[in-house]
Amino acid sequence: MGAIKDLVDLADKLNTSIMDRKTRELLLPLKEAATEAQREIFYAERKHAEEMDKLKAENTTLRAQIDQQPKAEFFPKTGTWIESSTGIHYCPRCRQNGKWSPMQTAKYGWSCPSCDKYAEDPANPGPTSLPPNYDRGTRIL
Ligand SMILES: [Zn+2]
Repeated sequence: MGAIKDLVDLADKLNTSIMDRKTRELLLPLKEAATEAQREIFYAERKHAEEMDKLKAENTTLRAQIDQQPKAEFFPKTGTWIESSTGIHYCPRCRQNGKWSPMQTAKYGWSCPSCDKYAEDPANPGPTSLPPNYDRGTRIL
């Protein structure tokens, strides 16, 4: 706000050093406009600082939420999200609703305690799963 303050100071100086009444009357709107501009800048800066504080707080909250989310990748083979550092599977159905629900290990896959979604482990198929080369009805090739 240095330039506006300089302008206000200059208008003050002119107002006090010029003795001619008509010239002083001409200078008066200049001083008032400079003072008003100084006031507007003051309030704009204060409002800006308040908005910055609000955005910083929001950013801190969002950063904390991001840090709490698992670093998981989607694995099409299992149909689940897997956090590589822990091996935890996360439910794809709950993920679609914006939640990270860790799945529980089941006998032949994983189940979600939140929504009951079941994901089969392709490396450990259950007895109801048919091998890909199973000939329905007669024999296993
Ligand atoms: Zn779920």
